[in-house]
Amino acid sequence: MNERPYWNMKIEPLLNTPDIIPIQQKNMQQTLEDLYHNAPYWRKRFDELKVKPEQIKTTDDLASAFPPLTKDDVRAAMMEFMGEAGPRGAVEGFMPASISDLVLMCTTSGTTGEPTPYFFTQRDLELWYESISRAFWRAGLRPGMVVIHAMALSMFAAGVPGVQALEHFGALAIPMGAEAGSERLLSFARLYSALIGIDGIVCTPSYAEYLIEKAPEVIGDSLTSIGIKVVFCGGEPGAGIPEVRKKIMEGFGAKVFDAMGMGPILWASCDHEEYQGMHFVTEDTCILELVDPETKECIPVEDGAEGAIVLTPLLSKGLSVIRHIVGDVARIETSPCPCGKTGKRVRIIGRVDDMLKVKGVMVYPAAIDGVIASFVPRVTGEFRIVLTEPPPRVTPPLKLKVEYGEGISEEELPALAKEIADKMHDRLRIRPEIQWVPPKTLERSVHKTRFIEKAYEKK
Ligand SMILES: [Zn+2]
Repeated sequence: MNERPYWNMKIEPLLNTPDIIPIQQKNMQQTLEDLYHNAPYWRKRFDELKVKPEQIKTTDDLASAFPPLTKDDVRAAMMEFMGEAGPRGAVEGFMPASISDLVLMCTTSGTTGEPTPYFFTQRDLELWYESISRAFWRAGLRPGMVVIHAMALSMFAAGVPGVQALEHFGALAIPMGAEAGSERLLSFARLYSALIGIDGIVCTPSYAEYLIEKAPEVIGDSLTSIGIKVVFCGGEPGAGIPEVRKKIMEGFGAKVFDAMGMGPILWASCDHEEYQGMHFVTEDTCILELVDPETKECIPVEDGAEGAIVLTPLLSKGLSVIRHIVGDVARIETSPCPCGKTGKRVRIIGRVDDMLKVKGVMVYPAAIDGVIASFVPRVTGEFRIVLTEPPPRVTPPLKLKVEYGEGISEEELPALAKEIADKMHDRLRIRPEIQWVPPKTLERSVHKTRFIEKAYEKK
């Protein structure tokens, strides 16, 4: 098997050390110059803030010169900037490139609002190949391995670009896509595993869980029979939740990795037995900061710091934003990881938009998922948070609809509900009210927003 390294393996030992800083600063300065000279919107913003690229030498200078922008801020700025040039002009105004330089456009799913477009030039694709290769390599994937790609292919950043990245990495990519449906995917996986063997799969954690559930029915055997060694998850949080991770590990009989990012931005988890967060593997091409989700005040990125993530991708053409609040809330760990690999670690706690406030206590659906999943098989793992008023405010108690497991009798349910509520109180400082529903009552969905039932909209 080919042990060819990806093209910039020299960065690896420098991550999370003072030696990465001059590289990051050089890339930052190059990016700021590019935006100032080639992107009219950013030129205007520099001028309004009365700053020149050459005055910004460090990431601290950047933070004091540029207030962070949320997705809504970027959208509003774009609308305002549109002017005579129309949408095309606005798009070009934001990028230090013209539309004719673009080779690919993707979007977010749009499940939480209007889909956001992402643009890639050839250079952005190359940055993406570099960052994802670092993560693939750390996950134990190597050129020559056979990898099923089972993310939604159509339009998503993890879709077609994910397949291209596998190809570029030198893996044998099998682009099945999540659209093919689980039955087809499972039957093909079984066929190909017999034919050429399958080393890995790239998919969302919820799809991985779904495949585990469907396998006995479709292939008449558990997924471990396919022999997949690496489940590389992305697209949504989940693979970082201990219980979900354990379920996928056992269901596939494989190691499970969690990655997040796009273009020059990437975090990826390691193979330490206990989940350690995702290592920040692109510190050379991305500036990571934290701010308070409400006040937007800077929070120093040090061991144990928590806050909303602010990103400044570097060297990118199509994905350029200076200090973008991407919507995730994270905890950062800078202490050495027991796995021995480099890079600070990022643990996603939730989304700024998903945040629920139960009498002042901040709670995220992903954290509730973690607790519920720890009660499998006494519950199926499917649940809904029933919101009777628009989030984030929740008048206690938080209402949960939970599917009990097969073979659980009705007499056992009150005690089980109490056990779950106690554990949530312990871990999350909330005591939910549980309404039981029989197994397979709740619709199975691969959408990121599947945990929420907006009961207030039905009124
Ligand atoms: Zn690690």
